[in-house]
Amino acid sequence: MTKKICFLIIIMFVCVLSTTAFGMSLDTNYIDVKVGVSRNISDTITLNSDNGFYLYEEFDLGREIIKISEKTIYVTGYKNNELEIMDVNYNTITTIPGDGSVVIGNGDYNDSIIQVEKNKYRDYITFIIKGNNISVINHIELEHYLYGVVPKEMSASFPLESLKAQAIVARSFAYSNIKAHVNEGYNLCDTTHCQVYGAYDNEHKTTNQAVDETYGQYVSYNGNVISANYHSNSGGFTEDSSNVWTNSLPYLVAVEDPFSNNAPNSNWTFSVSIAELQSKLSSSGIDVGQLLNIEILETSDSNRVLSLKVIGSKGEKIINGTNLRNILGPSTLKSTLFTINKEGGNEDKKVYVIDGNSMYPREINLKSTYIVDGKNEIGVNRSSVSRALSIDRTSTIGSTYTSTPSSFVFNGRGYGHGVGMSQYGAREMANQGYNYYDIITHYYNGVEILNIGK
Ligand SMILES: [Zn+2]
Repeated sequence: MTKKICFLIIIMFVCVLSTTAFGMSLDTNYIDVKVGVSRNISDTITLNSDNGFYLYEEFDLGREIIKISEKTIYVTGYKNNELEIMDVNYNTITTIPGDGSVVIGNGDYNDSIIQVEKNKYRDYITFIIKGNNISVINHIELEHYLYGVVPKEMSASFPLESLKAQAIVARSFAYSNIKAHVNEGYNLCDTTHCQVYGAYDNEHKTTNQAVDETYGQYVSYNGNVISANYHSNSGGFTEDSSNVWTNSLPYLVAVEDPFSNNAPNSNWTFSVSIAELQSKLSSSGIDVGQLLNIEILETSDSNRVLSLKVIGSKGEKIINGTNLRNILGPSTLKSTLFTINKEGGNEDKKVYVIDGNSMYPREINLKSTYIVDGKNEIGVNRSSVSRALSIDRTSTIGSTYTSTPSSFVFNGRGYGHGVGMSQYGAREMANQGYNYYDIITHYYNGVEILNIGK
């Protein structure tokens, strides 16, 4: 073998490695994003393109396999894990494998838009069949993907420097989570599980500008791309990652964040009845019988609730704050930075008496009531023969009287898990004249911003 041939083989091998999506390195251009919900293998999926369609090998986009001049095609499951591509009269045009290895574009390498059902996507579309499901995959350049992420994760009306910070953290998050769905055959999904991706129709001039002006930039700690977590509003203090997830990361530590103090959800209140809370807890497997109380046990340095005690007629259970947030709904209990006030209970427990002066019952408050004898002396206690009981016969009237609250009021701050960048804090920093570098280095400890191209 000559040196030249040997060199060519090495080059070809390196090219294959660098374009393989799942072995992705920082210089890989294209990622596979699952879009929308999975369809059944018998469903017909409609694709539209004004330029017609071109089919390519996923890893050889320069080599066109077939051109389809139709502007509308139908795709459905076919035998042997293949997909059938049909014209609008349901005549078969061709079949493609159901493993995502053939992608569909519009023939314009730089400006390909394909419409799938009602949504338009940049670059290429492909499909992955697993069992009876078809997943629609957008095979897309990373920077184009970010065009569809930034406006879904941050309002396009936010100041440019905060949008640029968002573009950089979204790029970093994509890189560091590139194998999130590797077992399902793609890189990222389009929901909050990964990052919300709104595709072409949700793009906005300002967010595209933020992506373009930070092209290739990512957040690095010790030379490695970081998992750049972010959230809506820190409530005044961000959280250490080890308190939300199990891993402690040196760049995701709690920092004081006054920039998040005067924004939406900086303060919130949420009230839940004891019956509703009991029902939600028990349907999540936390059954303590009749719920009597819930108490905060432990908080983090940033005052987020780490654990709570749930007290019921059958005993007590300890749950963590993030669990409670998931049980009540993360958009209902907006963060774990809360205190709990109880409503109802003693003050609402009343007894009614009729004395010799009136035919009408008169309300008295249990908490401040004693039963007295004819000499006006307190004559009733737990050891006496005669006791006064509340109407449900559970409590003796007296100073030891306690009762369950009727509802819990959560007074909280912030929105989201609190780890990493606060988006409303970023907005406030930008409004105060800080740039995207200042924003990122405020929220991520000890990091630098690197460029993929450099
Ligand atoms: Zn995901």
